[in-house]
Amino acid sequence: MYNEKAYALGANRSCIRELFEYGKARSAIVGAENVFDFSLGNPSIPAPAEVNETIKALLEDTDSLALHGYTSATGDLATRKAIADDLNARYGTAISPDSLFICGGAAPELVAVFRALTVPGSEILAIAPYFPEYKPFVETTGSVFKVVPPDVPEFQISLAEVEKQISSNTVGIILNSPNNPSGRVYTKETLVALADLLTKKSTEYAHPIYIISDEPYRELAYDGVEVPFVPSIYPNTIICYSYSKSLSLPGERIGYIYVPENATDSKALYAAIAGAARSAGHVCAPALWQKVIARCAHLRPDLKAYDENRQLLYNGLVKAGYTVAKPDGAFYLFVKAPGGDAKAFSEFAKKRDVLLVPGDDFGCPGYFRLCYCVSYDTIARSLPKFEQLIKSY
Ligand code: PLP
Repeated sequence: MYNEKAYALGANRSCIRELFEYGKARSAIVGAENVFDFSLGNPSIPAPAEVNETIKALLEDTDSLALHGYTSATGDLATRKAIADDLNARYGTAISPDSLFICGGAAPELVAVFRALTVPGSEILAIAPYFPEYKPFVETTGSVFKVVPPDVPEFQISLAEVEKQISSNTVGIILNSPNNPSGRVYTKETLVALADLLTKKSTEYAHPIYIISDEPYRELAYDGVEVPFVPSIYPNTIICYSYSKSLSLPGERIGYIYVPENATDSKALYAAIAGAARSAGHVCAPALWQKVIARCAHLRPDLKAYDENRQLLYNGLVKAGYTVAKPDGAFYLFVKAPGGDAKAFSEFAKKRDVLLVPGDDFGCPGYFRLCYCVSYDTIARSLPKFEQLIKSY
């Protein structure tokens, strides 16, 4: 006997993974240079050199037992302090290390937060387009995953739609900005308006509605666009941060949860998150990586390569006649599917060795996602292909 829901999740690959596996198999037949795989968000710039230098230094100057041993479940104090210092210097805040919980990246952090916030029947809202893993993460808690329809074509947040979805059972709303898959950054104006609405609704229902701010792409913004620090706008915000994309460390599993000191029930909430993580098997975040972050929390990615890719692909697609959401963050472009059916267009492109992900799984049919963390050369060679696709479809 086994759990049918768990079986379904394990047996059926996501559309993104399906395309990625297809791309690998197809490359073996026609050559990798002939497959244009824009499916997977795996960083294509290396981690900053200081990260590797720090690992070498740690091997030299830190006792092996301390380097690889268990840490406290909430994370090493030195790591939490380095992160708090960095955030305070950037955002003018007074964050205490005690409000940070070091964890294994955004995915387990989100799971811990959903488990901590909900009881069966609670509702968590996500704003389309959204990261597809949110749905299973929320639903395994026994709570209800509700979708706020997309604000097309701007991909900000439609407050009228948020208001329609909120009920007395709503305990949280997930934000992800810079956004996967739209590549959009929510403006300060958007966030202030959302905060006002959530404050009003929290009063109406006499319980807090938290923002769960999923921030793996916080450092990836272009053209000087500001990524507002959400807790400074709405204190009932829980941040799930990850170094997967900002320091190109997705396989290492390191990040943190931040529960603002002035959030409602802050201390109890922090304890509930620690307890939820514990009940999901969290012991501590990887010890070596905690020590790396203690010395590298101030580092930022060099975005030059992503920015060049973004401009080449965006300009090339627009010139070819595609409609593309203005890409100001992350490393994705969200493109209107010619003909309106993204699944059909994705199948058509796949047959011509161009792999793109239909927006249907992100709660936004009619668009497809391109991930531009590939080589500049791949993008340059793909542009004639995109031209042919739109002409011949
Ligand atoms: N949230 C979003 C929006 C993502 O795109 C990803 C990964 O691609 C994650 C969360 C998970 O990130 P992590 O590697 O930190 O678990």
